[in-house]
Amino acid sequence: MPELPDVETFKRYLDRTSLHRRIIGVDVRSAYVLKGVSGRELARRLKGRRFESSRRHGKHLFVRADHDLWLRLHFGMTGSLHYFKDEEQAPKHTRVLFLFANRHRLAFEDQRKFGEIGLIDDVNEFLKKRALGPDALDIRLTQFREIFGKQRGAVKTILLNQKLIAGIGNIYADEILFRARIHPATQVSALKQKTVSKLFRVARDILKRAIDAKADMDRMPKSWLLPHRGKGGKCPRCGRELKSATIGGRTAWFCAHCQRKSH
Ligand SMILES: [Zn+2]
Repeated sequence: MPELPDVETFKRYLDRTSLHRRIIGVDVRSAYVLKGVSGRELARRLKGRRFESSRRHGKHLFVRADHDLWLRLHFGMTGSLHYFKDEEQAPKHTRVLFLFANRHRLAFEDQRKFGEIGLIDDVNEFLKKRALGPDALDIRLTQFREIFGKQRGAVKTILLNQKLIAGIGNIYADEILFRARIHPATQVSALKQKTVSKLFRVARDILKRAIDAKADMDRMPKSWLLPHRGKGGKCPRCGRELKSATIGGRTAWFCAHCQRKSH
């Protein structure tokens, strides 16, 4: 499921391939992804414009077209972007295609159909309406401490709550907690201030390094949890078998030996 590093990687890909090109058409192949806009309206409003810039917040990507119209993209469970020239290169699960004057296309691909595409006038208003928290890479230490000082519950549940901090999902929450050596079920009220500060630093570091690796698991260090996460996986630090548990409705993977509940 695309999280902050994946969506940032899509943003950079879109910036590199699809900006400043005149849009000559929009081909909607599955209207289910459209939110608050019809296929006809999407095509009518984008035709003749250019994507000029983009902005990411958490797991959301916003692409500004000239004259201040924003395309918003959410990648759901399996969404991704592909830029290509020939129709036969179109990904199998293409849902929406943006056609450019240079005869290239940008596909929004999404096998599981949880992605979203919409048009909005104002990004800040959208973020406010969704009540999204600050982006996980923009949040300041003081804000981070405030959240952990106020909230109750398991530390992993807090990290996953997009209304508190936007961008961290199941995979990176586990990675961050593994690196910080905190058990995912640890109650936030049990965390010392210096542990919260460490969690903040670790979160930033993991997210940035994952972006550097283009969110590609094959490029991630073997010392990370990610390449070992799953049944039969061994802790890259101590070699013991990893454990899983359902926390906040999601499957957490962790090392019961390296990650403790008392901090
Ligand atoms: Zn371990």
